[in-house]
Amino acid sequence: MFPISRPVASEQSEGCMESEVKIKQIVLNRMERCVVCHHEFHTDDIHVISRKPEMWTMLVECTDCHARNFVAAVLNDGDPEEAQLALRKLTEKTVKILLEPDQAGVELETPPAGDPISPGDVVDMYQFLGEFDGDFKALFRSAS
Ligand SMILES: [Zn+2]
Repeated sequence: MFPISRPVASEQSEGCMESEVKIKQIVLNRMERCVVCHHEFHTDDIHVISRKPEMWTMLVECTDCHARNFVAAVLNDGDPEEAQLALRKLTEKTVKILLEPDQAGVELETPPAGDPISPGDVVDMYQFLGEFDGDFKALFRSAS
């Protein structure tokens, strides 16, 4: 996807930065710490994957245990159901990468020393998403 027109004024990019910080703070309000090791998250731990006027998707990675969680922020006219679907897709993709690194064709970061990623980590992520928004449980149930 390409923007229709490139922003020329610097004001516009400053405005984006401002909203990025705001959205990250909202995310931090909802998930203060890592569910795995209880490391407290900071805005630097949140990486924006995609930003649309109505929805942002982000990856929150714990700097201590490298647990990853996907988060979607619904803005203005955003559709929460669409955000859930987007999150679900991201989660499925991650599960695929975690379980089949060779087939996924994605270059993985060096895993943290000692603890290789196990299917248990994936289960933890599903459990976290279930707590994050109750509707996820229903989604996963209907999918299986
Ligand atoms: Zn952690």
